[in-house]
Amino acid sequence: ETIGENLRHTAERHPAREALVDVAAGRRWTYAEFDAAVDELARGLLARRIRKGDRVGIWAPNCAEWVLTQYATARIGAILVNINPAYRTHELDFVVRQSGLSLLISAASFKTSDYRAMIAELGFEQTVFIGEAGWDGLLAAGQEVDPAELHEREATLAFDDPINIQYTSGTTGFPKGATLSHHNILNNGFFVGEGVGYTEADRVCLPVPLYHCFGMVMGCLGATSHGACIVLPAPGFDPEATLDAVQAERCTSLYGVPTMFIAELGHPRFAEFDLSTLRTGIMAGSPCPIEIMKRVADEMHMSEVAICYGMTETSPVSTMTRRDDSLARRTETVGRVMPHLEVKIIDPDTGRVLRHGEPGELCTRGYSVMLGYWQEPDKTAEAIDAARWMRTGDLATMDAEGYVNIVGRIKDMVIRGGENIYPREIEEFLYSHPDVADVQVIGVPDEKYGEELMAWIVMRPNAEPLTAQRLRAFCEGRLAHYKIPRYVHIVDGFPMTVTGKVRKTEMRLLSLDVVE
Ligand code: ATP
Ligand code: MG
Repeated sequence: ETIGENLRHTAERHPAREALVDVAAGRRWTYAEFDAAVDELARGLLARRIRKGDRVGIWAPNCAEWVLTQYATARIGAILVNINPAYRTHELDFVVRQSGLSLLISAASFKTSDYRAMIAELGFEQTVFIGEAGWDGLLAAGQEVDPAELHEREATLAFDDPINIQYTSGTTGFPKGATLSHHNILNNGFFVGEGVGYTEADRVCLPVPLYHCFGMVMGCLGATSHGACIVLPAPGFDPEATLDAVQAERCTSLYGVPTMFIAELGHPRFAEFDLSTLRTGIMAGSPCPIEIMKRVADEMHMSEVAICYGMTETSPVSTMTRRDDSLARRTETVGRVMPHLEVKIIDPDTGRVLRHGEPGELCTRGYSVMLGYWQEPDKTAEAIDAARWMRTGDLATMDAEGYVNIVGRIKDMVIRGGENIYPREIEEFLYSHPDVADVQVIGVPDEKYGEELMAWIVMRPNAEPLTAQRLRAFCEGRLAHYKIPRYVHIVDGFPMTVTGKVRKTEMRLLSLDVVE
């Protein structure tokens, strides 16, 4: 099945159910209306001579047109290239050229900043701005295209055609373009939706970026493959708009990376919002602190909240927690392997499969593994071995029952005086300090030990900033001496990717000054 066919089937089953709500724009679509709007845009793209395999870029904040573009490109077999709104000329230029775009869709709202200048600088002619005459012109042009032509073209699509180039978050370096098929992402979205038990009664609030697989696959495809409704609270992440949308739209599910949930829980008027319609949701993208999971389950009524683990290259989810897992399993692990996929933990140097409990590199195989990095056969060969196992670069353990624990990224592991230290473990411990709101631990160069630990700490409101001495006193006797951070750096926040991930590489660079 292709994504276009899947949407048609949902629309046939639940025509009058709501499919999409754009809260900021005050607009809503039923499945029948949504399916028709996708057809309308698909015909517009055909009128602009976009054909199967052509690349269409989208560089816009979250909005309904983003979602329409996602499904309309899939319906004609064009390859959607998701472009991060935070990109500047250098990256934009790279993506436009690297992917060989035929058309770029952007947003009129970007005009308030210097986006239009960047597009002009690019010298790229084929741009349509959402919310302007260009967008209406695209739809009008589609009226000239015979619906039969759309159906004929749709009939030539195959489930394993590429339809999406997703650039990775760039947490560890320059983003790489993962090329994904209908099969990759539709199945993954479907099984994520099944994992959290979606039906047509669910309403899924998505403050997470659509240009990333969290929003586009786990959110949009997860919802539409089960007839649930997509609720977009605001163009960018805003804790208040998110809480407002959950309340006003009676959402049953809420997504976020851990920092989003931390911001929502910390909102000054948090207690005033009625979140009682929430049942489930997904936390993913980076390590999910146990304390935060518990508060989300309790204070946000999301007793069934799931943790997912995955990466762009694997469509994205490889493991997730299930509703019937114990609370401990649902807060302390990233769950078990998804249906129809395989996961193994290996010694990254020898490739040997490790025993239960031993930390090693997580590898995964199955329908979810990307077709490859767009036009980068060497990088693809490094990431996917001859037997089609994807090497994730993440360190993990697996217990005898198959529950996986993410220990950290291979690149973030700290080696102090010959001891392997996983910052994640220390972060979890420091969250238990009553004055600590958020914490990240990194390794900084040290002459004697090779590396030393530094904790970056965001204090809770009104708490007195912690000194290294007081933090060490708190750790004494409760953490092995070599795991106790030597340095403390009090901050208001961390350097982040727009997908809400902490950029430890950048923290390490910034820390060089702090240590001196
Ligand atoms: P890049 O590959 O460009 O450096 P990135 O790896 O952050 O960036 P993504 O594909 O968005 O790009 O993120 C996947 C990574 O996010 C995983 O490899 C893993 O390190 C981390 N991650 C995802 N989910 C979880 C989770 N539940 N717990 C811990 N880490 C997670
Ligand atoms: Mg990665």
